[in-house]
Amino acid sequence: MTPKLKALADRVESLQDQLEEAESEYETAAEPAIRAAKGIPADHYIQLGTWECSDSPTGRCAYDMTDEDLAGDDECIFCGHPDERK
Ligand SMILES: [Zn+2]
Repeated sequence: MTPKLKALADRVESLQDQLEEAESEYETAAEPAIRAAKGIPADHYIQLGTWECSDSPTGRCAYDMTDEDLAGDDECIFCGHPDERK
């Protein structure tokens, strides 16, 4: 591996670490706001999406993965749009 390639690979790895850290921090901070807005019980697993959502307090779609009515559909609890969009 050339020094240039090595430096770039190191940079990619470092940025991936930072991204994971930021995502984890975001999830920790966003969850309580989402639960409070929709009254979602603590034993429900909330998945945070990446779609922009003007109805959501975090600006992103969120999915209640434990709600039996929504199981398998994965529709945003704020805007109702599905996780998978083409
Ligand atoms: Zn949404």
